[in-house]
Amino acid sequence: MTKRALLTGITGQDGAYLAELLLSKGYEVFGVIRRSSHRGVEDHRLRWLGVADKVKLLDGDLADLSSLLRIVQDVRPDEIYNLAAQSYVASSWRQPILTANITAVGVANMLEATRIGAPGARFYQASSSEMFGLIQEPVQSEKTPFYPRSPYAVAKLYGHWITVNYRESFGLHASSGILFNHESPLRGIEFVTRKVTDGVARIKLGKAKELRLGNIDAKRDWGHARDYVRAMWLMLQQEQPDDYVVATGRTTTVRDMCKIAFAHAGLDPDAHIVIDPQFYRPAEVDILLGDASKARKALGWEPQVPLEELIREMVDADIERVKREPAV
Ligand code: NDP
Ligand code: GDP
Repeated sequence: MTKRALLTGITGQDGAYLAELLLSKGYEVFGVIRRSSHRGVEDHRLRWLGVADKVKLLDGDLADLSSLLRIVQDVRPDEIYNLAAQSYVASSWRQPILTANITAVGVANMLEATRIGAPGARFYQASSSEMFGLIQEPVQSEKTPFYPRSPYAVAKLYGHWITVNYRESFGLHASSGILFNHESPLRGIEFVTRKVTDGVARIKLGKAKELRLGNIDAKRDWGHARDYVRAMWLMLQQEQPDDYVVATGRTTTVRDMCKIAFAHAGLDPDAHIVIDPQFYRPAEVDILLGDASKARKALGWEPQVPLEELIREMVDADIERVKREPAV
């Protein structure tokens, strides 16, 4: 029997890579897509990976329980991956209520749709290392207490605990993946790695002279999205649902990540980076460093792409993309 997977957030970075992975494993893949006046462009990531015409997209929104329930009842999925969110930390201070409605209450909507419409389905919640925020331990694992530092992280914390609660209350096969930052050529343009690799491409091709950044002393544990979606799938293949940290175990400053990107294009970062306080955040997460030993042991999961290779892949992809942009 062909397995059926339903993904919210299928048009995002992780949704695209997860759809690719599930298709390669023979799944029938369904995705929730929210209505937009830009129909035709919102599947650009799926097209980039060459899988857009292999997935079935259904109209729905995380804020609209009735749409989710109808979709779950129609699709009857074996596995549900809840990836949709207002996912950008900096925006969450400017749109805190929307962030709560989608990134927090949206999870409850998806869990309710699952409980009512497909109680036997396995459920994955996209939790985040941002929940550790002001870190309570130098290396963060499933046992580390949370201390969220942004409206986004507060909302993700609700999503995490409501998932645990539905598992414990209703016996849902619901797992929460506490994923550290993961990037790719399909990362949203406003996140720092992609902003840097796009900036490097523009400088290299003579379309820009400078790159304006905020706190480049911040440290993150960055991995490749393609590696991380594999961990999501592995979680749902386990007999028992559980929570797992997914991370590389290496942390790097934004400054050093920039050095890798600029060096790959033969450029000097000091000649182009301008520190602009408009990109400072009201409360910062200074450092994240994950301990994924539980995922390594229980899931047999290992990250395969080191940061240098990831950043070089992103710079190369952005150079190709910027080259294709029409001159203005
Ligand atoms: P993206 O921002 O690339 O994708 C977010 C997705 O959510 C998009 O498909 C977007 O649709 C969709 N979405 C947003 N609002 C709604 C809504 N109201 N109804 C339905 N869909 C909606 O995120 P990523 O792929 O990078 O991340 C996937 C998930 O993992 C997110 O929940 C994120 O918070 C979480 N996460 C990500 C990490 C990372 O480093 N990437 C780390 C830890 C957690 P549209 O295309 O229409 O905007
Ligand atoms: P986050 O970890 O989910 O917030 O991912 P981001 O990629 O948005 O940010 C990672 C870190 O880079 C944070 O500590 C930011 O403060 C820092 N940073 C420094 N300059 C910038 C910038 O110009 N844009 C973004 N997005 N982050 C920046």
